Amino acid sequence: MGKWGKYLKRYNKQWESDPVFKAWIQPSTEEAVNAGKGEAYCKLCATNLRAHKSDLLDHRRTKKHTTRENSLATTSRGRLDSFGTN
Ligand SMILES: [Zn+2]
Repeated sequence: MGKWGKYLKRYNKQWESDPVFKAWIQPSTEEAVNAGKGEAYCKLCATNLRAHKSDLLDHRRTKKHTTRENSLATTSRGRLDSFGTN
């Protein structure tokens, strides 16, 4: 709504509750959008992406991204394991 609505037309807030995207997606900064870098941003890779679902899915399959996503998963699994020992 408001000022965001104007330039985030293609960014879908619902991606933030989608298990496929929610761990890493966020809207790009206004600066990045105005520079034509894309409307979505990957927190893991610190990279701007076009806010097209197919582009996001392609990005998710890149080696750079999967490596980072896996190390994130390992970290949280480790934490769960230590809770499980009680
Ligand atoms: Zn990424």
